[in-house]
Amino acid sequence: MIKEFLQMHGEYHDDKSFKELTTLKMGGPIAHFVMPENKEELKVIVNYLKHERIPFKVIGNGSNLICGESKFQGVVISLKRLSSYRIEGDEVYAEAGVMAPVLAAALAKKGYSCLEFASGIPGCIGGLVYMNAGAYKGQMSDVVSEVEVLKDGELIWLNSDELHFSYRRSIFHDHPRWIVVSAKLKLTKRPKEELEELMADRLRRRKETQPLDKPSAGSCFRNPEDTFAWKLIDAIGYRGYHINDVYVSPKHSNFIVNEGNGTAEDYLNIVYEIQDKVKEKYGIKLVMEVEKFNC
Ligand SMILES: Cc1cc2nc3c(=O)[nH]c(=O)nc-3n(C[C@H](O)[C@H](O)[C@H](O)COP(=O)(O)OP(=O)(O)OC[C@H]3O[C@@H](n4cnc5c(N)ncnc54)[C@H](O)[C@@H]3O)c2cc1C
Repeated sequence: MIKEFLQMHGEYHDDKSFKELTTLKMGGPIAHFVMPENKEELKVIVNYLKHERIPFKVIGNGSNLICGESKFQGVVISLKRLSSYRIEGDEVYAEAGVMAPVLAAALAKKGYSCLEFASGIPGCIGGLVYMNAGAYKGQMSDVVSEVEVLKDGELIWLNSDELHFSYRRSIFHDHPRWIVVSAKLKLTKRPKEELEELMADRLRRRKETQPLDKPSAGSCFRNPEDTFAWKLIDAIGYRGYHINDVYVSPKHSNFIVNEGNGTAEDYLNIVYEIQDKVKEKYGIKLVMEVEKFNC
């Protein structure tokens, strides 16, 4: 019944796993996976799942998720097909499934400053809004003017002030069933060459300092006030530490990478060890930035 319904409203699969859908390449099978083609289909699917009390999880590019090995019996909804964008005056309207690096490059090419801070963040616009993702002193809250949200069965627009943005947080953390459908981002003019040079330079720096060639979910811990998580991890001697195939990256100790058949259990055991040791030695509670799901 559920399978037939989902098949009518998007591309459907019953053989997907989180291993395929996350950048960390970990996680077990998924009972139902669907990719709606547009926001109307998304609305129909979500309203049905809520009515039938079937658990669901919306994902973008799966670049901030660590997922357990047990089968997820609900529905994973991928927003990758909501991937259109258009420039409207001094704003860009982008659907939730647009990849941030793609949009950043397209805007820079047209001489629009907006997302250059996010050109190396491998997530979708919806995921970046959810996380108030940021880098190089820029973050989504600087550029978001309005967000279209599927909330309580209806599509509504919320302006930036209503989104309660803070460090790697937004109102969506308190309302996990609200879905970011699209966003309007503010644009300012800046020479194309300057933007492209800036982005290329930052990408070079990322490649030098981060293990971009290994599966990861980016920074594992939020930076505490006044220091960096990687410094604390180094100070307890955990750079290069591993449990089975999961390693604290020798290149950047706040990145925990999967060298093969790593599992969420191994990943989390490293996290807990680091948290305990840092707390014991420095009295600082390291908080995960990566989100656990189904584990
Ligand atoms: C190599 C690497 C580098 C990274 N660098 C950075 C960085 O510099 N700065 C930074 O902030 N992050 C960074 N990240 C982390 C990650 O890319 C960001 O957190 C990003 O915002 C996640 O987007 P996503 O589409 O992949 O979200 P997902 O991982 O798919 O989802 C994350 C959470 O957002 C929710 N979500 C996703 N889409 C929606 C939606 N449309 N509506 C409501 N909820 C939604 C999901 O349910 C989930 O709870 C990095 C990750 C990697 C792998």
